[in-house]
Amino acid sequence: MVNPLGVHALVWTGGWTPDDAELAIASTARAGYDLIEIPALDPSRIDIADTRARLEAHGLRAGVSLGLSLDADINSEDAATVERGRQILMSALEVTLGIGGEYLGGVIFGAIAKYPGPTTQAARRNSVAVIKELAQEASRGGLTIGLEFVNRYESNLLNTVQQTLDYLDEVDEPNVVVHADVYHMNIEENGFRAPLLLCQDRLGYVHIGESNRGYLGEGTIDFDEVFGALADIDYSGPMVFESFSSAVVDLQLSNALAVWRNLWSDSQDLATHARAFMAEGMQRAHATASSR
Ligand code: MN
Repeated sequence: MVNPLGVHALVWTGGWTPDDAELAIASTARAGYDLIEIPALDPSRIDIADTRARLEAHGLRAGVSLGLSLDADINSEDAATVERGRQILMSALEVTLGIGGEYLGGVIFGAIAKYPGPTTQAARRNSVAVIKELAQEASRGGLTIGLEFVNRYESNLLNTVQQTLDYLDEVDEPNVVVHADVYHMNIEENGFRAPLLLCQDRLGYVHIGESNRGYLGEGTIDFDEVFGALADIDYSGPMVFESFSSAVVDLQLSNALAVWRNLWSDSQDLATHARAFMAEGMQRAHATASSR
C-alpha cells in the first residue's frame, strides 16, 4: 500500500478531552490506520502536549482540519471578521506543529456555511492573502496546507477542482495542495476521473466518503473510477476515511455538516471495513493500471 491511510476522529468521538483523545487514537491504531485527522474548529480545545504524547505512544501520524465559521470568515470583506479567521488559522497551525502533525487543511479558505450570496472580488482577495501568509508560516515547520473544496451548500468560494487550482495559482506557494473529497466531488463535478487527472501532482490529500457519508460501498459513488484515477496519477498521499452519524456528535462540526441521521453506530466495524475497502480498492486499481 503506497498511500498512508487515515480516519477522521469524528468516527470515534466528538470531543477531545484526554479520554476522548485516547479513545480516538487507540481505536485508529487498532483498526490498522497510519494516521488520524483531528478536527480543530476550536484549536484551543486541544491539549497539545497530551495529544502529542498519545500519538507517539500509539505510533500514529496526524493531520489537523477545520472549517471557519461566518463570524471568523477570511472570505469576507469585513476586516475584523477576516482577522478573527486569521487568528484561528494561526492557532490551528500552532496546534498542528505542536502535536507533531504534518498537515493542516479543510475549509480554511472561508467559512463552512450556506452563504446568502456569491463571494466578491474583495472577499476572495482577503482569503488568498491570509492563505498565502499561513502557507509561508507553515513552510517554516515543513507543513503542508490543504484546500478542501466543498459543495455549494458549504462554501461559495471553492466548489470544484478547477476553481481550487485557479485559487492555488493565485496563492502561489509550493506547500499548498488540493484536498479532494469524493463526497463533495460527487455533488459538483461531472465525474471523478477528469478532475482528479487535472490535479496531477498538485493533489496532496484525499477524503474518501460515501454519497451519504455512511459505509463505503453502500452508496452511489463509483469507487473504481476514483481509485483508478488516483492510481493513474500515481497519487501517493494520504487517503482519509470520513463518515458521520448522529451516533457521534461534535455540535459545531456535526451541525455545520448537517449530520442529522444515524447512519451507523459501531465505529470500530465501520472504520475496519473502510480501511479494507480503501486498501483493496487501490490494490485493484494499481494491478489494473500495470496490466495495461
Ligand atoms: Mn471532507
